[in-house]
Amino acid sequence: MLSGPLGGEQHEAVRATVKGFVDREILPHVEAWEEASRFPRSLYKAAGDLGLLGIGFPDAYGGVPADTLEQLVVSETIARCGAGGVVAGLMSHGIGAPPIANLGSEATKNKYLPGILAGDLICALAITEPSGGSDVANLKTTARRDGDHYVLHGSKAFITSGMRADVITVAVRTGGEGLGGVSLIVVDGDAPGLERTEMKKMGWWCSDTAMLYFEDCRVPAENLLGPENSGFLGIMQNFNAERLSLAAMAYGMATVCYDEALAWAKQRETFGRPLVRHQVVRHKLVDMATAIMALRAQLERIAWQVDAGTHPIADVCMTKNLATQTLELCAKE
Ligand SMILES: Cc1cc2nc3c(=O)[nH]c(=O)nc-3n(C[C@H](O)[C@H](O)[C@H](O)COP(=O)(O)OP(=O)(O)OC[C@H]3O[C@@H](n4cnc5c(N)ncnc54)[C@H](O)[C@@H]3O)c2cc1C
Repeated sequence: MLSGPLGGEQHEAVRATVKGFVDREILPHVEAWEEASRFPRSLYKAAGDLGLLGIGFPDAYGGVPADTLEQLVVSETIARCGAGGVVAGLMSHGIGAPPIANLGSEATKNKYLPGILAGDLICALAITEPSGGSDVANLKTTARRDGDHYVLHGSKAFITSGMRADVITVAVRTGGEGLGGVSLIVVDGDAPGLERTEMKKMGWWCSDTAMLYFEDCRVPAENLLGPENSGFLGIMQNFNAERLSLAAMAYGMATVCYDEALAWAKQRETFGRPLVRHQVVRHKLVDMATAIMALRAQLERIAWQVDAGTHPIADVCMTKNLATQTLELCAKE
């Protein structure tokens, strides 16, 4: 099949579980959720009950260890619901929770991870600020140590799941200028001094996206992830995993575009024959299928490289670009 799924037969079980979830829990409602600009909180619990939120996390905290390709199969299969906002919102713990799992103390992991992976707690990641997102080393939100607490000042922009999140992994400046002064800290959604406002978007309608404001926001010092001023590396490693899951998501979305275009081209008739019998339309479909096949090969190759223990960072970045360009092509054509 030209727009076939990522991975081989060994990924069939996880693919079938996720597809069943998408068919049952998402597809019947997704149009209404997009119009309403939200999906129900109960979707997290339904995904947690199936073990979908735990994939790739350690089993000691309720996770389900998985190889990279298996994790990409999950992102891709959910994306086949056709609404990016569902994937981004439902899986926001996929960017918010890894720093807790990788850098948090035992107490912090036990406090947050089981609830997040079970779908009881919504988790978000807050890096971007109104003054910019690309230049992470220059972030401006500060956290000043005061006894057993850090006191946060500043604001964050475009935070996925930001309105509803119970647990927010926040990048803050605890030291001097540049990347050596950045830390990560976990902020509870009900922390005093945290305010949030909703942001409207052109796309991903049903994903909750928020501005966060911290004013004298007191957070227990034990919520710091790793040593003070060592957060930048953790942020960058987290970005690489996010790049790969976004690439798999773009792959899933590109296949939706192709499958729907092909179905429509077979059904719709112009000038006495179906669209698919016109050569220009056939060229478009072939261009889409070619790009999709190349992307699938690249995603499978890079998942294998990551699991082999190499750190192909530049390849990961280029794969994300390739994936989003493929989706752009398929959506346009
Ligand atoms: C729907 C949505 C959801 C999001 N969810 C989250 C989230 O959950 N958590 C979070 O922390 N952030 C989130 N973001 C923010 C996202 O990560 C940022 O938008 C992104 O990092 C870019 O930052 P910026 O928008 O401030 O653009 P800027 O950093 O201001 O960049 C503006 C433009 O300049 C270009 N540019 C920047 N630096 C350079 C350079 N050195 N050389 C050449 N060009 C450059 C950029 O490519 C871009 O085109 C989300 C954004 C959106 C739209």
